[in-house]
Amino acid sequence: MSSPQTPIITPLPCFIDNYMWHIATPEGDWVVDPGDANVVLAHQRTREKPLIGILITHHHLDHTAGIAALVEAFAMPVYGPNEVREGISHYVTSSQRWQLAGLGNVDIIDVAAHTRGHIAFYLADHGQLLCGDSLFSAGCGRLFEGTPADLARVMATISTLPSTTMIYPTHEYTAANIRFAQAVEPNNAALADYAEQVAQWRAADRPSLPTTLARELAINPFLRSHEASVVEAASAHAQRSLQSGEQTLATLRAWKDNF
Ligand SMILES: [Zn+2]
Repeated sequence: MSSPQTPIITPLPCFIDNYMWHIATPEGDWVVDPGDANVVLAHQRTREKPLIGILITHHHLDHTAGIAALVEAFAMPVYGPNEVREGISHYVTSSQRWQLAGLGNVDIIDVAAHTRGHIAFYLADHGQLLCGDSLFSAGCGRLFEGTPADLARVMATISTLPSTTMIYPTHEYTAANIRFAQAVEPNNAALADYAEQVAQWRAADRPSLPTTLARELAINPFLRSHEASVVEAASAHAQRSLQSGEQTLATLRAWKDNF
């Protein structure tokens, strides 16, 4: 099914710092990772079109708790990974391509590291990546279930997408992530510029998201574990000489966890 019109994706804030992403298409609306059904239902009352589907990236409750109430209100399919036990009508696995109403071709990408079955949805016709908690602006999700090797694989996978890809993470962690990124790369000029931009946005109560892959490749230390500056900073923190990639990522992740 062709879908020439690019979906309009907007954040629905919930809880302390979550974003559920609302996707408006000519065929109807979708929502990604609805942790709070009431917020979605209130928003939907302002919309002319109904919700026609739900996308779920991983099993954490702040991404799934709203599924049941929304399916009760709008009979609709729910696409998600095997690790989600309840509420999924269509289980999807990595490397599949689905054609979904209004979204066009949707590639399922394996981003397992934060959780063992975490997936991302890549709207291939439109260059939009719904990545859940796998990647944040200037950071990445904690390794609750995966290993640094998993994280290295996920960062490599995301890096291969077009640099123009719009990225929609599910938490407003950007400002705190930037503070860490600047500890890693104090001389990164693009990062300094971005820090100023995000401070202005947040002061105006504007979301810092979505972001782009081009930006993240320039400022996100977890996507930059092959850069000499990042390897050197991680090595200095670990007090031993680290290799780029997985070793550097392992140190960055542990460093950030205690930052
Ligand atoms: Zn999570």
